[in-house]
Amino acid sequence: MSQVDTSSDFDVAIIGGGPAGLAAALTLGRACRHVLLCDAGIPRNAVATHIHNFVTRDGTPPSEFRAIGRAQLAPYTTVELRDAHVESIGGTRDDFEVQTSSGTVRARRVILCTGMLDEELALPGFSEAWGHSIFQCPYCHGWEVRGRRWGYLALDLDALQHGFATLLRSWTEDVVVFTNASLDVPSEIRDALQRSGVQLESRPVARLVVAGERLTHVELADGERVACEILYAHPPQRHVEVVQRLELALDGLGYVQVDPMTRQTSTPGLYAAGDLTTRAQGAIFAAATGAQAAAMVNHDLGASAPPR
Ligand SMILES: Cc1cc2nc3c(=O)[nH]c(=O)nc-3n(C[C@H](O)[C@H](O)[C@H](O)COP(=O)(O)OP(=O)(O)OC[C@H]3O[C@@H](n4cnc5c(N)ncnc54)[C@H](O)[C@@H]3O)c2cc1C
Repeated sequence: MSQVDTSSDFDVAIIGGGPAGLAAALTLGRACRHVLLCDAGIPRNAVATHIHNFVTRDGTPPSEFRAIGRAQLAPYTTVELRDAHVESIGGTRDDFEVQTSSGTVRARRVILCTGMLDEELALPGFSEAWGHSIFQCPYCHGWEVRGRRWGYLALDLDALQHGFATLLRSWTEDVVVFTNASLDVPSEIRDALQRSGVQLESRPVARLVVAGERLTHVELADGERVACEILYAHPPQRHVEVVQRLELALDGLGYVQVDPMTRQTSTPGLYAAGDLTTRAQGAIFAAATGAQAAAMVNHDLGASAPPR
């Protein structure tokens, strides 16, 4: 185990340098707090070519988005950025010990901004097309492919119950829902789909037919091919290891439970922002909650920690 570097104590350690972590670092840097931002460098949207639906950054490649975020932190001498993996977080409020791949530091507060990991579906063709013609969110990737033949691969009833499939009709008239023979769709949902002109395909799916990264068809187990150019899907997600080990309280969907105002988790002094706290995932939402968590942490640190 690495030595604790007591010369580099921080007011706040932020784990993860995506939109949530970058926004949190900016807020705390501007509040004169001594901040460490640690990022392992693997963004959730790595396969996407552009970020959409982020005002002032619409159409920006993810790597450029992060480079701009980092460059805008540079003037804040109170913020230290490390390309490092956080292995573990121990200790308690006012004295957390954060073990990273570049040494161990102490921090009075910690903000988790580690995002989520998407599980790959064991469906042939899925990984090739993920992020190119398979998406999770039509607000992120809808406009560019509007009017085409869309599908929704429903893995559970939850999103169907909340009207996700009928929502897609906002972008195209041509939507088919694939249940892969694994869902018993209640009659009220069937009726709602029918009223909205959404087709329901209940037969088992064998594979996705892709040309390079481009989806062309969904092939059913009986060999029939259903034309489909764009597919929406919500594969299962899991937390990164360092978060799993903290054993924080989770909400009913498995996301880290936070106080909606302060964004403090079930562990005092440990805060969370971004994708790991919600199924409503988008870069601008993550950035907003990062800034919110940072402001609340600054408030929590209060007058007891004079700015450096
Ligand atoms: C294919 C795809 C396309 C998308 N397109 C869009 C879009 O166009 N518009 C949009 O608004 N949203 C889009 N999203 C969603 C968006 O990417 C996320 O909502 C957003 O990135 C969440 O930000 P975050 O900061 O919470 O997490 P992330 O962006 O996932 O960042 C988490 C960071 O934490 C780091 N990390 C994790 N564990 C550790 C550790 N132990 N130590 C150090 N660092 C760690 C990771 O390396 C990563 O850099 C897309 C998502 C996907 C999957």
